[in-house]
Amino acid sequence: MKKKFLFVLNFALFFSIGFGTLTYAEYFGGKWHQRVVYYGVSYNVSSTYTTPIDNGLKAWNGLSNYISYKNFKDIGISQPVDVWVRSYTNELGLTAAEWAARGFYGFGVPSPDDTTGPYDWGNIYLIRANTDPLSSTNKKRVIMHEAGHVLGLAHTTKAFTSSVMDEGDIWGLDSPTTYDKNNIIGLY
Ligand SMILES: [Zn+2]
Repeated sequence: MKKKFLFVLNFALFFSIGFGTLTYAEYFGGKWHQRVVYYGVSYNVSSTYTTPIDNGLKAWNGLSNYISYKNFKDIGISQPVDVWVRSYTNELGLTAAEWAARGFYGFGVPSPDDTTGPYDWGNIYLIRANTDPLSSTNKKRVIMHEAGHVLGLAHTTKAFTSSVMDEGDIWGLDSPTTYDKNNIIGLY
């Protein structure tokens, strides 16, 4: 398994980390204004991701009375999609091949401004050259991590805590930890 990664994130934070200029924070600085975030899966994501996507996003449910993810297809009426899970093409500056070569698995990007909110939409981009070879369980872990970013969580600052928002911990975790849950409850 590849060891070098930051499945991040927003650009500003990525480059800040790269240059060491930003103090890490638990939160990006914004959050969703509604109680339910509806997600959809883009046509360019293969069916091997269907279960990992559902499990990765819904792993965040039940942590707060305020925020939860629902697949828009589970709703019987037409429902606008807030967050798309999609295969990365060229949205964030580099090509998929270039991000893949840098060891990235994906990005979770709340919009329009991750640092202020409120969030109105978001995207989870998968770098499929790196995620396709993963087991179903590890695909889910990547998506769970990115889904945490979309809710407004940054990479955790606390190296001693177990967190799905810590790239060093994610491969051993199947759900958000107590630490992550408390961050969601605190935010929402
Ligand atoms: Zn990340």
